[in-house]
Amino acid sequence: MSKIVTDVVCPFCGTLCDDLEVSLSDDGKEILEVYNACAIGAAKFLHAQASDRITRPRRRQEDGTWKDISYDEAVDYTAKMFAESKKPLMYGWSSTNCEAQGVGSELGEVVGAVMDNTATVCHGSTLIAVQDVGVPGCTLGEIKNRADRVVFWGCNPAHAHPRHMSRYSIFPRGFFTGKGAKSRKMVVVDPRCTDTAKTADIHLQLEQGRDYELLSAIRVAFRGEKLPDVVAGIPKEKIYEVADTLKEGRFSVIFFGMGVTHSLGKNHNIDIAIAVTRDLNDYTKAAIMPMRGHYNVTGSGQVWGWQFGFPFCVDLTRGFARYNPGETSANDLLMRDEVDSFFSLGSDPGAHFPNESVKKIANLPSVCIDPHITPTTAVCKVHVPVAFVGIEVGGCAYRMDNVPIETRKVVDPPEGMLTDEEFLKKVLDRVREIKEA
Ligand code: SF4
Repeated sequence: MSKIVTDVVCPFCGTLCDDLEVSLSDDGKEILEVYNACAIGAAKFLHAQASDRITRPRRRQEDGTWKDISYDEAVDYTAKMFAESKKPLMYGWSSTNCEAQGVGSELGEVVGAVMDNTATVCHGSTLIAVQDVGVPGCTLGEIKNRADRVVFWGCNPAHAHPRHMSRYSIFPRGFFTGKGAKSRKMVVVDPRCTDTAKTADIHLQLEQGRDYELLSAIRVAFRGEKLPDVVAGIPKEKIYEVADTLKEGRFSVIFFGMGVTHSLGKNHNIDIAIAVTRDLNDYTKAAIMPMRGHYNVTGSGQVWGWQFGFPFCVDLTRGFARYNPGETSANDLLMRDEVDSFFSLGSDPGAHFPNESVKKIANLPSVCIDPHITPTTAVCKVHVPVAFVGIEVGGCAYRMDNVPIETRKVVDPPEGMLTDEEFLKKVLDRVREIKEA
């Protein structure tokens, strides 16, 4: 008889689905099946116990080969690297729990690091816009039960957040919306004809990089003012139609992704998307929400927000928190050769950073904490495998709507393997010993 663990939270994307069921072998050690998850969520659980998994830390040798080392040796290398650095960069923090993020913050403060998370290459511009103009927000539960107008702007949940539409935004029966997709009108704004766009009631296939103009035009259309015949490649009739559709709804929500945050205009695109939402509240209830990617990137911003006052790009090198994206952001620091060591946890900058930044990482003393072999481990000097959060250890994570959810442990990690939090605590203790010596 296999054992079933219920109410498991998926530690993959910011949707943080909390209804998974995982079947285990008789002895409770092996994951056999994952129910209710999408393909990418299920794959994370099923690959966690791959036979070629690295279970002990390893250090790169002069000739480029790896040599296994103990956790104590890895702790010692990491602590000495921090102690000898004038300006270490501690990056990542999005695929781990808030408990580890908290210990990491303390460590960053003690060693005087610059701390940045993956928002720096995704929704950092959103965070800047929210600081500038505020945000009319809500929870995914409210959207499920109330939203009858749903806009996906520059995002493709059919691929990136596969259960978002079925759990919260389009298909579920809402308390006030009734059942199924017909109870909601769906608008997609995307230069590409994505799988999400194919299911929309209205697809605005705007010209690449002209989001700001189209958002401005929607504000004009709300007020019934005159528009040019075509804006951003969209005929004015279509823009008036979308404006009227949103105004006629009882509850409208705009979800947006990196198609807006990292195209021409960046945080100003979000400023004006928020202005559209604010304007819409003159006619009906409206809210806006970023489609956060990593399952706990939101938590990283929350933890740093309450500890330092800033959600990313936090510079602690002067003994207090400074924040100036563009100056204190990971890529800018690497490209300007301003950091002298690199630490990565809970992300894969080797895969996501520009090539020039990755080359800089390869030339620095560096440690990568990751259960997997990744493009980042391929350029780091020490690789420390750890337990999977949400599979082998629980802890708190924040969903994309800023709701904290307690993830569940499903199986034990390989014997002797540390968690992110345990490893960071050991490094923190060792750094204090070195500093006091
Ligand atoms: S939508 Fe996201 S959180 Fe939900 S099962 Fe898929 S990957 Fe996991």
